[in-house]
Amino acid sequence: MTVTRFAPSPTGYLHVGNLRTALFNFLIARKSGGKFILRLDDTDPERSKPEYADGIKKDLEWLGLEWDQVETQSSRLDRYQEAADRLRERERFYEAFETPTELDLKRKKQLNMGNPPVYDRAALRLSDTEKDALRSERPGHWRFLLDQSRINWNDGILGDISIDAASVSDPVLIRGDGQILYTLASVVDDTDMGITHVVRGSDHVTNTATQIQIMEALGFDAPNFAHHSLLTGPQGEALSKRLGTLALRDLRERGVEPMALLSHMARLGASEPVELCTEMQQLVDGFDLSNFGAPPTKFDEQDLFPLTAKYLHDLPVSEVKDTLNEIGVPEDLQERFWNVARANITVKSDLAGWWELCTKGADPVIDDDDTEFVAEALKLLPDMPFTPESWSTWTSAVKEASGRKGRGLFMPLRKALTGMEHGPDMSQLMPLLQVVRAKG
Ligand code: GLU
Repeated sequence: MTVTRFAPSPTGYLHVGNLRTALFNFLIARKSGGKFILRLDDTDPERSKPEYADGIKKDLEWLGLEWDQVETQSSRLDRYQEAADRLRERERFYEAFETPTELDLKRKKQLNMGNPPVYDRAALRLSDTEKDALRSERPGHWRFLLDQSRINWNDGILGDISIDAASVSDPVLIRGDGQILYTLASVVDDTDMGITHVVRGSDHVTNTATQIQIMEALGFDAPNFAHHSLLTGPQGEALSKRLGTLALRDLRERGVEPMALLSHMARLGASEPVELCTEMQQLVDGFDLSNFGAPPTKFDEQDLFPLTAKYLHDLPVSEVKDTLNEIGVPEDLQERFWNVARANITVKSDLAGWWELCTKGADPVIDDDDTEFVAEALKLLPDMPFTPESWSTWTSAVKEASGRKGRGLFMPLRKALTGMEHGPDMSQLMPLLQVVRAKG
């Protein structure tokens, strides 16, 4: 059975970049009738916060990305210690004592000499006496001893990958303060949980190389790996600094609809065009990992709004009832109001503005040249309540009295009644208008 996982660290809220990872793993699992696990990578006790874990779940629920199982790394620390012991037994784990400053200095020296900044394994050359002396000063951290051969895998997106382990530093798996790091925890989890496919961002390619070796050292089989491209801003600029403003909770707040967001993300960076899906199953059916490419993918949040509008325009009134109730549209007017307003909204909250126009009217907008024309026209305005015929009755009468026609006739009247140049069909809108401020 296909088993995938989405493994965010609860050290912040989810943003569009994370969403891509979550969605791909979710779709792969659903497409094959497999299992999708939500795994919270919370081995960092200082930075992991319950409110972020809750936020992550809330975001996924909002999107309908339901998980079949949830796991937390902080409750599995014993398993990681067991794996660490096994690596020690197999002589693939060694204690090192360099401080971050010392490591930094080493890296700078290497770079100055034109060498790659790979950890020099000085710790392997320490005698027991030297180690004891260092241990009395500071706790040691633990590194995995890479086998300096090439690490190869066939990546689900990038194709054949080959990384020279000699160009990679032996990864630190346990910090000096005893904190188990993600690289080890993830390997143990992926194996224990029977993960068959790991899709994550291409910033994890080097991790994958080392994790493949750690798995081998522990006698585990590696899952299938795929690394999707990272998102950039619309101009190709790094998105990392802006990700804070691209949190899913902010997009939700701004009215982006889940299916619009998912439809966009399921195709962004793929060879096939974005297509608005209204049901999750359509996304599942239309998803194919092999359609995605390696180059960075441009993301423009503005693209989410036309898709949201398109999604909303076709919704039946039953799907917007909550919003209509919230803004106070009476039950018996909901359907009519929705049919009048829906083509004129981008996000659901725009409905409030149209309802306010209906119930409170709008400040008239009258061009200087039209002052007299509008004043005369208002004298011909039919009595309220308006009917679906009111607009044509009124405009015909004004046309006859003024001789105006076309845009010169209709636009000043629309602006006088609604304060805007655009909006719903006036003959449908008028019966909903309860107040006309232009009449004074
Ligand atoms: N917690 C890791 C991250 O958020 C998970 C990476 C992975 O999918 O293995 O980057």
